[in-house]
Amino acid sequence: MGGLRDTLNRPLRDLRISVTDRCNMRCRYCMPREVFGSDFAFLSKVDILTYEEIDRLAGLFISLGVEKIRLSGGEPLLRKGLHELISMLALRDVEIAMTTNGVLLPRYAPALSAAGLDRVTVSLDALDEATFAAITDSGHTVAAVLAGIEAAESVGLGPIKINTVVKKGANEDELLDLVGRFSNRDIAVRFIEYMDVGTTNGWAMNDVVTAAEIRNLLGDLEVIEPSRRGDVAKRYQLPQGGEVGLITSVTEPFCGDCTRARISADGHLYTCLFASQGLDLLTPMREGATDQELLDLIDSCWSSRDDRYSEIRTEVSSVHSRVEMSFIGG
Ligand code: SAM
Ligand code: SF4
Ligand code: SF4
Repeated sequence: MGGLRDTLNRPLRDLRISVTDRCNMRCRYCMPREVFGSDFAFLSKVDILTYEEIDRLAGLFISLGVEKIRLSGGEPLLRKGLHELISMLALRDVEIAMTTNGVLLPRYAPALSAAGLDRVTVSLDALDEATFAAITDSGHTVAAVLAGIEAAESVGLGPIKINTVVKKGANEDELLDLVGRFSNRDIAVRFIEYMDVGTTNGWAMNDVVTAAEIRNLLGDLEVIEPSRRGDVAKRYQLPQGGEVGLITSVTEPFCGDCTRARISADGHLYTCLFASQGLDLLTPMREGATDQELLDLIDSCWSSRDDRYSEIRTEVSSVHSRVEMSFIGG
């Protein structure tokens, strides 16, 4: 087990890998259509990590202490043959999860599960079709996402979690319905405070439904003690049974326990969701760097990490340029 620590004594335990910057939805809070339109310059194929390169990096990160890998995007299921990557990663001693908008799960869940994917988190912000359509700004439907959840469940990609971004005026009235729909099925819904990731979503503090407000909406909740350092969600037992999670990055930040590194689809290492720059690993890899040389780069990047953006947001927010969520995978 690697003993790597950053300047705030945080180990490196989780790795999120974005396998594509493309998506089949245009959620208003993530990829607004005015910016990510038909003329947007997405990465070209030669500029994104191949599966062999991702697998090589995964091996190096695991040797430095990573226990859990989450594949994300953009929409990870848009990347062709994703099950091939999963089958490579599955040979390693690591838990493999994926975050997806779910609509392509009916097509791909069986192959992903057979290849060794452990579990999925599915994003779903509303059960009402009109509300969902307004948020996701795409032709996809709630019915398609629910079919995706069923498909994942039927091939054992659980325990499944649901990610719901809560935005003022958009979906607060959906929260109880979502909890009611899933809590009796061993599927935990996690409500995420709307975050100021990237610079294109026009974020304003007024649009955030705070964790305190969400707790009020949900009624009597009993705290469940965290099972692992670095878990992003605060967990609560619901009065009617089942559990719910809150991801409180805006009003109750958890940087002190942040053990996550992120790799963008073009092979840059980011040590914070709100970073403005990443460390290029793709170029040295393609120029023939040895494993030891890559390990030294990663090691020195993590060792000098001092990120705690959410804790100091109010001081730096207006002057800070930030990478887009769809680029580094949430
Ligand atoms: N496309 C996949 C999906 O939506 O699940 C994976 C990538 S998406 C960037 C990962 C997660 O980030 C999703 O659960 C999404 O809801 C969340 N997300 C995106 N923009 C956000 C924002 N501004 N604030 C909070 N969460 C956000
Ligand atoms: Fe696509 Fe996921 Fe971003 Fe929505 S949140 S636009 S589904 S990457
Ligand atoms: Fe981790 Fe950065 Fe989020 Fe803090 S702001 S929890 S350091 S990703």
